[in-house]
Amino acid sequence: MDCFNPQRIIELRTHRKLSQKDLGKRLGITDRAISKWEQGLSTPSSRHLLELAKVFGVSVETFFSPSETKKETEQTGMESLYELYKIGRGPSSSHTIGPERACKIFKERNVDADAYKAVLYGSLAKTGKGHGTDAVIQKTFSPVPCEIVLDTLKSDLPHPNIMTLYAFQDGREVDTVTVYSVGGGSIVFEGDVQTPPRSVYALKRFDDIAAYCKKKDIRLWEYVLENEDAGFYEYMQTVWLAMKDAVRRGLDDEGILPGGLQVAKKAKALFSSQHIDETAETRENRMVCAYAFAVGEQNAAGETIVTAPTCGAAGVVPAVLYYQQKKNRYSDDDIIRALMTAGLMGNIIKTNASISGAECGCQAEVGSACAMASAALAELFELSIEKIEYAAEIAIEHHLGLTCDPICGLVQIPCIERNAVAAMRAINAVSLSSFLWDSRKISFDKVVKTMKETGHDMHTAYKETSEGGLARIEV
Ligand code: SF4
Repeated sequence: MDCFNPQRIIELRTHRKLSQKDLGKRLGITDRAISKWEQGLSTPSSRHLLELAKVFGVSVETFFSPSETKKETEQTGMESLYELYKIGRGPSSSHTIGPERACKIFKERNVDADAYKAVLYGSLAKTGKGHGTDAVIQKTFSPVPCEIVLDTLKSDLPHPNIMTLYAFQDGREVDTVTVYSVGGGSIVFEGDVQTPPRSVYALKRFDDIAAYCKKKDIRLWEYVLENEDAGFYEYMQTVWLAMKDAVRRGLDDEGILPGGLQVAKKAKALFSSQHIDETAETRENRMVCAYAFAVGEQNAAGETIVTAPTCGAAGVVPAVLYYQQKKNRYSDDDIIRALMTAGLMGNIIKTNASISGAECGCQAEVGSACAMASAALAELFELSIEKIEYAAEIAIEHHLGLTCDPICGLVQIPCIERNAVAAMRAINAVSLSSFLWDSRKISFDKVVKTMKETGHDMHTAYKETSEGGLARIEV
């Protein structure tokens, strides 16, 4: 099957010497929407494809090509969970986590450098300041100074998110590298051969994985361990430590979030206030919400979080698990097993649908996080595979159609509150699942497929373009 090829738009646009803004104007949309298409983060609607074909004087088929990479990925299963749970600075995986990873690698190979320079191009140059790309680069190279140059003029770029890093010693350039931040925190160094993502899981549908686990009489987290490498458990220990750290920092933090919306951090207040007639249930909701707000606010402030499965949705899974550890004294090992099951569900969604708000709306980010948190909690309670599946299915089903419409493009409103609501919903999904699991009609695989279709039918205004929904409200 032919697949949309974003490179075609870049080639045609640069060949005609049009900037993203010029092309956006012709189509009556923003340059940000064009940038998303070119990054492969969203796909033009049929109407926009027709308009693009008209502008460039080509046929619609020009924007499609047989996708060997996609075919390859579809045939060979799923990537490692190392690629799902990433520890890095918020608020955006492509503008902060990707650049941070690149700088860490570059710093490690230039330990004797006494100065660095980072030149940002394309979208990184145009929106990097708002997303805090400059700050994250300087923090990563610190205490060694790093000069940041925003080159917003350079066109004809092979990718919309590019940066070139330089290392210096005694005023002499000793190393340089160009890096593409290709989305989801993933990076590609220029010159690297473009290879499809490496699959470490042979299976990618829940039904198949569940059948395998039942046959071998193992739990879902054991299936994860069977497929990951020897260092994976240790990595998951680091992931859980980073999640807990984000909750604790967030509960201790106060003040106003950066970006100009004047959003106050509320986790600490939520944690310490008390309802006038507080029941156990009210308290549970308040605590879980406080933990979700804590992580969401740390993400929005550009602090370190874990993508679960993304930066914007990073608060849901830790909120549910942190609450359970406090309440029921689960060990770190118990929680890590739950995190592995959650990661498996997130990976199934990522592989068969999407975890990107730009591609499928917030149902793909917060909806996926809710499914992961439900699965984690059901695993923690040692529920059966059927109940784990049903809990995750309920969680995602009731996020179907949820739009991504962050005000001013900042990951604050509605994102932070949405994490808290999803965390409460995850707990309810597990409760419902434990009673009704044997009467269900819809499988997890089916709801994942539906989420993908719903996301692709969604208007681009509701897919991280800040052009529709809540994003249009002036605050
Ligand atoms: S609204 Fe958009 S940016 Fe915010 S959490 Fe949802 S998907 Fe992420």
